[in-house]
Amino acid sequence: MTPKYPEKISFAHLPTPLEEMQRLGKHLGGPRLFIKRDDQTGLATGGNKTRKLEYLVADALAHGCDHLITTGGVQSNHCRQTAAAAAHMGLGCSLVLSGNAPETITGNLLLNKLLGAHVYWAGDRPRPLVMAELAEEQRILGHKPYIIPLGGSNVMGATGYVCAMNELVAQLQEQRLNIDFIIVASSSGGTQAGMVLGSVVSGFNGQILGISIDHEAGNLKTQVAALATATAAHLNIPQLALADRIEVNDDYLGGGYAIVGETEREAIQLVAQLEGILLDPVYTGRAMGGLIDLIRWGAFTRGQTVLFWHTGGNAALPAFADSLVS
Ligand SMILES: *Cc1c(COP(=O)(O)O)cnc(C)c1O
Repeated sequence: MTPKYPEKISFAHLPTPLEEMQRLGKHLGGPRLFIKRDDQTGLATGGNKTRKLEYLVADALAHGCDHLITTGGVQSNHCRQTAAAAAHMGLGCSLVLSGNAPETITGNLLLNKLLGAHVYWAGDRPRPLVMAELAEEQRILGHKPYIIPLGGSNVMGATGYVCAMNELVAQLQEQRLNIDFIIVASSSGGTQAGMVLGSVVSGFNGQILGISIDHEAGNLKTQVAALATATAAHLNIPQLALADRIEVNDDYLGGGYAIVGETEREAIQLVAQLEGILLDPVYTGRAMGGLIDLIRWGAFTRGQTVLFWHTGGNAALPAFADSLVS
């Protein structure tokens, strides 16, 4: 099956490394563990949004746009990668962040400012509305704005993860590896949607399990299915039964979005101390906490191989110092 991929701008460091986590695997005594290092994609500390932005920025340029507008939480990794992409391409950038300005400027928020993005606080107003107003202001100033939705999760963004699966399958063939399960943090759904579609395109036979960060499983599944289907249509891929491939686990929502609990704390410390790899407090710490718990419950056999897809985010760590160490 040969999809028709749109143009992209290449600024990600690809392929990202695929590594074994031998010490963590041994410590947990479960399946063989691998990690896909999308925390190493470049763009001011990297992350999964970089692959999405290669297609989103190309689309912005194709439409003659010169100013990127997007939105996220206070410590949004997506906003920081968008700010970096804008700087790299010589585009303007406005970010609409949730709530009000915090007292300390740290983590991704600090990086946004260093990268030259204009930061706006949504307060209690709907973020899409604030983005629309900023777009209007940019038009009045003579610019051509391009609005990127939350998490970069539309057909353009998801396309980045269709291609990421092609990249993974090539690495697996080269290293003669077979992966039974992929575990990935899933929130706005674009990463998982692209991966699920990409598994069909690339012939990946394993299962993809999204660990939900902040949505009830049924809702996230519906969102991922809709986006995967729309992306298939966009790439000219014939209608596929994608819904059966979408697996979501919402057992690890904990205290809510960006609330660090024991699950995240243990996972972050364990992976840091056994592998020298930094996870993040909001997404990968939670997803790895879920994987560790599933291993302890015996969800996998020792003969199986599990790949943890590191989606980045460690730039947020300093903002969570108080809840990570005592
Ligand atoms: C945005 C993000 C995710 C979630 O990706 P979605 O495509 O929104 O589901 C996971 N991990 C990190 C570090 C992120 O920044």
